[in-house]
Amino acid sequence: MRFLGEIARLNAKRFGDKTALVFEDDRLSFAELNACADGIGRQLLDLGIRAGDRVALLAENCLEFFPLYFGIVKIGAVMVPLNFRCAVAELEHMIRDCSPSALFHTDAFASQAEQLKARCPDSFKLVRMSRDLLDVDARPLARLPDNFDEQATAAIMYTSGTTGLPKGAMLPHRSLIEGAASTALAAGIRSSDRVVVTVPLFHGGGMYVVSHPHLYVGASIVLTSKFDPVGLLGLIETHEATTFFGVPTQYAVLLDSTSSAGLPASFKTAWYGGAPMPVEIVRRSQILWPEVRFLQCYGQTETTLNTVLSVEDHDRKLGSAGQELPHTDIRVVDEHGVDCPVGVVGEVIVAREAGMTGYFNNPDQTAETIRDGWIYSGDLGFFDEERFLTLVDRKKDMFVSGGENVYPKEIEEVLYACQGVVEVAVVGGPHPKWGEVPVGFVVIAAESKHTASSLQAWCEDRLARYKVPRQWHLVDELPKNASGKVRKNILREQLKTGGASNGA
Ligand code: ATP
Repeated sequence: MRFLGEIARLNAKRFGDKTALVFEDDRLSFAELNACADGIGRQLLDLGIRAGDRVALLAENCLEFFPLYFGIVKIGAVMVPLNFRCAVAELEHMIRDCSPSALFHTDAFASQAEQLKARCPDSFKLVRMSRDLLDVDARPLARLPDNFDEQATAAIMYTSGTTGLPKGAMLPHRSLIEGAASTALAAGIRSSDRVVVTVPLFHGGGMYVVSHPHLYVGASIVLTSKFDPVGLLGLIETHEATTFFGVPTQYAVLLDSTSSAGLPASFKTAWYGGAPMPVEIVRRSQILWPEVRFLQCYGQTETTLNTVLSVEDHDRKLGSAGQELPHTDIRVVDEHGVDCPVGVVGEVIVAREAGMTGYFNNPDQTAETIRDGWIYSGDLGFFDEERFLTLVDRKKDMFVSGGENVYPKEIEEVLYACQGVVEVAVVGGPHPKWGEVPVGFVVIAAESKHTASSLQAWCEDRLARYKVPRQWHLVDELPKNASGKVRKNILREQLKTGGASNGA
């Protein structure tokens, strides 16, 4: 059965009192999670919400998140977790786009929620969330909503909008369930695992990459609403966590601010993904945590999780994003949609069955992204002879300089290998002769003496001339989105408008 509500119901039977969720000092067992979801489902029905209706959520990670999520999907409605770091105007775009029947919010987002209600007065019911939401004693809901179809949308996840207005990817029960099962298999998750989740749950990385597969097998999730390196180590210790999932920028911060002392023996696996991970950061993390095994995940809002570089293959294939999940079909194609031979770079496309059915309310963008049953990821990569996928960059980040293709990721890798470099982003900047040239934005460690010339010299020794950045900006921080990804569009914009200060 490919119905997400079954994860909650069956795990309540199988795991009963075992901890499903921990947040701060509170916990919910699998039995409680399911009972709360049933109770919330009944409250939603009382509010007049029916199958197919959208229910939006504006909340930091909290204990109520998954009970609400399962309550929504159990009645066949659609969860829309909103990016709480967005400005009200951006949220308004999403609200108008998905026209929810209700907007649930935590106290922290009361003001934004009220502003949204004022801007879209007739559209939705506003529900302030409190612990009372979980204090319900309700009859179990029906096992399946009436006329359930496994291709029905369970969640609409908005893309981060680094390439324009956020688009709502409609994810059906079927791909989310199959993705959970496949990820659990590929990553070797066991019900005895306890994973610390510090990434926001409105994003695919928090939701279907890490939380779904852990809940699917009956593992426990320790949630936190913010990431700080010391707090993370404390959570691992307190809850004897076995696993952590982090995005590359979190690893960069961890390396900059923690030492290897004091890791509990329970801690076995560190997952990374969600954005390109510099090999140098993996190597330094392995030195920091020598007892820990590493695993990489590659996915996208639209396609869910695509590949895993398993702990078994990790060191031998370091730098690759791994192999397709068991339920996922991936191809690498040229600009005519023809499969590229082994070792040749092309666009990564993913069979639609594994991902979204389309963008909500947006047939034009859907037709542009899903062609002949394949979701075009916009990522460039190649397969090796063992069918491991290596990503070279995003299509929109690659640029041409004097007729040569430049993949900024390659230049970033070289800079990450330079002692004293904390974070890097390379983008193409306009140039009268070459079209575009590489421009480096670099955060250096406080004690480091690097200058633009020393970074330039480092690159000149290691890269072809056309790949060496022509301009350097030494900055205090890089602009990032809520999931910790560098917003290269802002850097490109700064170069065009002359807004980037030159630290050279
Ligand atoms: P938008 O579509 O609005 O630009 P976004 O693409 O950043 O937003 P996501 O769906 O969160 O939104 O990001 C998915 C992208 O992140 C992938 O297409 C890929 O480029 C990158 N990515 C994810 N995991 C990895 C990984 N392990 N290695 C390299 N890149 C990754």
